[in-house]
Amino acid sequence: MIIDRQGNKWYKGNLHTHTTDSDGLKTPAEVKRLYKDSGYDFLALTDHWHVNEPDDFEGMLVLSGCEYDWMKDGCYHVVGFGLKDRPALDMGDKPQKFIDEIKRCGGVATLAHPAWSLQRPGKMAQLQGVDCTEIYNSVSGCPYSARPYSGLLIDIATVMGFRATLTATDDTHFYGDEVGRGFVYVKAKELTRDAIINAILKGDVVPTNGPFVTWGIEDGYFVVRCDKGCKYVQFFSNLYYSPETTKIGGTVYEAKFKLTPKVKFIRAEAVDFDGKTAYTQYAFTDK
Ligand SMILES: [Zn+2]
Ligand SMILES: [Zn+2]
Repeated sequence: MIIDRQGNKWYKGNLHTHTTDSDGLKTPAEVKRLYKDSGYDFLALTDHWHVNEPDDFEGMLVLSGCEYDWMKDGCYHVVGFGLKDRPALDMGDKPQKFIDEIKRCGGVATLAHPAWSLQRPGKMAQLQGVDCTEIYNSVSGCPYSARPYSGLLIDIATVMGFRATLTATDDTHFYGDEVGRGFVYVKAKELTRDAIINAILKGDVVPTNGPFVTWGIEDGYFVVRCDKGCKYVQFFSNLYYSPETTKIGGTVYEAKFKLTPKVKFIRAEAVDFDGKTAYTQYAFTDK
């Protein structure tokens, strides 16, 4: 858990995890032990087509979850977590039904690893009710695969109307060293299922590979702060070109992007001196 300058608590968690209940290589008990010992505050167990039970593991909040996949006309993996009920789904159901059922059961619906899935941005924009998507998915990276990062794809989908809170997850299977490469900090007053889920739905989430950032709109600028300093900050908007796209030089503690009328959305990535990235959420200027 991190406490920011304003005294807000940010709880650390992994929202996409597999165990021996599907194709993960460790048992649920081993997985909980490992994440607890790694300093995580919460964890969602999300086995394929298996609804995992919620738990309190020595003070670590364990959220229920499941991952549903469709690979007939394009590839869609939808993770649900924080479920209060068991989705009534079978393998013939389509991706939109996965989302609808997860939400009917009180869960958060995440479109997982869009780059790994070679997701089509126009199709993403047609889905209704997606709560989150993964800008970073550890197991989709080297050496098991080659597309852990989905930022460009999500930017294009966002231009087309897609809206979702960004997350970073391990999608842990224990195939190698994917544990701890992608996680989230969630701003909440307390470590309870409802507080964490509500904060995620509000977008009070920092997806990251390590560093921590805060951001906001101040006096017509999108402002990003890295309290510990980073090597550079890059901005991603709907514009093809902007003179303020990168802030680099020395140690960067703060970077700003002017919100001209042409800027419809903006987000940023802050890269630290170890090459690790923290991602902001999107800010939309039409709200
Ligand atoms: Zn998946
Ligand atoms: Zn998965």
